[in-house]
Amino acid sequence: MNDKIIQCAICTNEMREWEGNNPQPLLPDMEDKVCRDCNDFVTALRLVLRGTDNETMRGYSEVIVSIMSLASGLKKARKMHMQMMEEE
Ligand SMILES: [Zn+2]
Repeated sequence: MNDKIIQCAICTNEMREWEGNNPQPLLPDMEDKVCRDCNDFVTALRLVLRGTDNETMRGYSEVIVSIMSLASGLKKARKMHMQMMEEE
């Protein structure tokens, strides 16, 4: 089993390489891997946008990926803040 640690291409959380999922069509790069949480969004996107053309899919994907990475940054900042409050 491959236990190499890699980063999720969307939320930057770390995971073992074998836990990574393919993010297409959310991310076009076949080399990118996403974590299980982000993969739920990939699956949802595939379901919601089933039958739409590639251009529409790409447009939505760009917006969704930027929302997801921004939101995970906010989540990390919030968690860090909570942790600091607890330590005081
Ligand atoms: Zn992720």
